This record gives sequence, C-alpha cells and structure tokens, in this order.
Amino acid sequence: MAVGIPCAFCGVRPFTEFTFGGEWRELDAPDAESDFQRVYLPENAEGAQRERWFHVMGCRTWSTVVRDTRTNEVG
Ligand SMILES: [Zn+2]
Repeated sequence: MAVGIPCAFCGVRPFTEFTFGGEWRELDAPDAESDFQRVYLPENAEGAQRERWFHVMGCRTWSTVVRDTRTNEVG
C-alpha cells in the first residue's frame, strides 16, 4: 500500500500526488547561512521527522507532516 500524505483540503492521498519539499525547519532569523543549511545540509534524522509536502496533483497547497524515516509511517 502506498504511503498516504494527509492534506488539509483533500484528506489522505497517495504520496505520488505530492512533491517532497524537504525537512521542516524553524527559521528564527533567516539569512544566507541558515538558507544554505536548510537546502544543502538536511538533518536526515532516523525516526520521526517533520517534512513539507506539496500537493502538486491536487489542491496545490503545502502540508507539514511527521514521517518516521524508518517505516515511512505518517502521523
Ligand atoms: Zn490537497
């Protein structure tokens, strides 16, 4: 069964309808250094990780989900 991503407008949809937007990070004071780290130095945690997903094949909005990187279970 495909991994389901919950969308606030469309409900749970297959991940194939989404584009991965990377890890969610708190940006206290965005600057060039923090932007570089966010884009090029992902934490890539083992376990629960907050991520951004864009519903490109649906309502075209962003969702933030928690995904376990070991099991792909989305909570
Ligand atoms: Zn949607």
